[in-house]
Amino acid sequence: MALFLLFGAALAFIGALLGQPAWSAWRRRKLQKVAFPAAWRKVLQRRVPLVRRLPPNLQLQLKKHMQVFIAEKAFIGCAGLRITEEMRVVIAAQACLLILNRSTDYFRNVRQILVYPGAFVVNRSTTDGAGVLQENRMALSGESWSQGQVILSWQDTLEGAANASDGRNVVIHEFAHQLDQENGAPQGAPPPALGDTHYDAERWARVFKAAFGQLQAEARFRHEGLLNHYGAQDPAEFFAVVSEEFFERPVALAQEYPALYAELSGYYRVDPLNW
Ligand SMILES: [Zn+2]
Repeated sequence: MALFLLFGAALAFIGALLGQPAWSAWRRRKLQKVAFPAAWRKVLQRRVPLVRRLPPNLQLQLKKHMQVFIAEKAFIGCAGLRITEEMRVVIAAQACLLILNRSTDYFRNVRQILVYPGAFVVNRSTTDGAGVLQENRMALSGESWSQGQVILSWQDTLEGAANASDGRNVVIHEFAHQLDQENGAPQGAPPPALGDTHYDAERWARVFKAAFGQLQAEARFRHEGLLNHYGAQDPAEFFAVVSEEFFERPVALAQEYPALYAELSGYYRVDPLNW
C-alpha cells in the first residue's frame, strides 16, 4: 500500500514536472508507436478511397494521427445508434486529413463526436425580411458547435467518404469549422499552425474576400459554378466549403481559384494537386 502511494506520488510529481503539454506529447508519441490495427486498414481500404491517393509518407502520418484522435475523442451514438470501430476509423481518417504536416493539438476544443444514423432534425429560429420570427425545422448532415462537439450523420459521413471527387464531405466541412473556431467565433480566418511561415493574414483576407465575392455573385444570379452556393452564406461557411473542394477536387479549384488554392495549400501544408 505504502509502495503504491509512493508510486502514485512519483507519477504525479513527474506529471507536474513535465507540465500538461509535455505529458500529453509523451502520451501521444506512445499512441503513435502502436501498430496500426489490420482491421482499421481494411476499413480505410473499403470506406475511405481518398486515403489511397495520399503519398506513402502522408498515409503513415495520417494513421499515426488517427490513433491519437481515436484515443482522445469520445464518440457518442445518438438516436439509438451504436458506435462501431468502423465509424471511429472513417470519421478519424477524414478529420485527420486536415492536420497533416502541421504542428497540431488534435482539434483541441473537440471533446465529443456525436453520431446520428442519418440526417438529424433541428429547430432553428430565423427572422425574415419583415422582422417576423420564424421557427424552422431543418434536416442537417452535420454541425460544429463551439462547446466542444461535432455532430455528424453517419449516412452522410459514409457517402461523403465513398465519393472522394465530388467536393462534398461533411467530416472535412465540420472539422474545418473547428479549426476556424480555434481563435474565437468562426469567420473564415483560422489561426495558422505553429511555425507556419507562409501565412500572411492580410493576403489571406484579400484572396478570401475576392473569392467569396465571386461565389456570392454566382449565388445571386443562380449560376452553377464549381463551388456549392451554401458557401455564399458567410465567410465561415465559405472556408468550410472550399476546404471540402481543396481535398476532393483540387484540380478544378486550382483552375478556377488559383490564388485561393495557393492560400489553402499554404494553410493545410499539403498539395493535393500532386496526389
Ligand atoms: Zn458549415
